[in-house]
Amino acid sequence: MTTRIYADDIAIDVTRKKIKNIHLKVLPPNGEVRISAPKWVAKRALQDFARSKLDWIRAQQLKISQQPRATVPAFVDGEMHYLFGRPLTLRVEDTGRVPLVQRQDATLVLRVAPGSDCDTRRAAVYAWYRRELETALQPLVVYWQRQLGVSVERISLRSMRTRWGSCTPARRAIRLNLELAKTPLHCLEYVLVHELVHLIEPSHNHRFVLLMDRFLPLWRAWRDELNETQLSQY
Ligand SMILES: [Zn+2]
Repeated sequence: MTTRIYADDIAIDVTRKKIKNIHLKVLPPNGEVRISAPKWVAKRALQDFARSKLDWIRAQQLKISQQPRATVPAFVDGEMHYLFGRPLTLRVEDTGRVPLVQRQDATLVLRVAPGSDCDTRRAAVYAWYRRELETALQPLVVYWQRQLGVSVERISLRSMRTRWGSCTPARRAIRLNLELAKTPLHCLEYVLVHELVHLIEPSHNHRFVLLMDRFLPLWRAWRDELNETQLSQY
């Protein structure tokens, strides 16, 4: 159950939960304020609590507003791109006929025809991301199928806006977000294991959590890392 309170001009959404303490959060990207509170704390007490934290709330909101916003890549020379968490500087050379993408140390070389547009460049870079992701996935899929004793029928890679992966147990099919080529490898491994565990347990119940704990004890940290990554951040 969510209600709204105010501290000065700041609106705060309050969620009542079965918890012992009051938790206050200021969330990116808009500096939204949320409180989780035990059911027995009175609204008045929450308002007093929020008011006592006003300086802290405003400081957090300022910090968030000063963080650089995600920008849409234009695939121009000097732009930063990521491969498995490693930053690469894009170097565009307009000397090729067929687009070619190659990594040279910390440089991502994109060879395109003179006057190529953003869509052509993006398509070339994403085709390269797809190959890199397929290569990285191969040993992981072999290893984790054996560890978990499952077999997957089909793994497809797609750009998705809202999720990192999904699983259709009935078809033994897994879908992974192409954007995982940009996050650190352990994040890719976490999403893969999560979806493979769904072949054993389709829902996120207690059994699912036990399986994750057993096979990938650090999964919570990696999930949190991914959740802090906005899909459009890279
Ligand atoms: Zn799931």
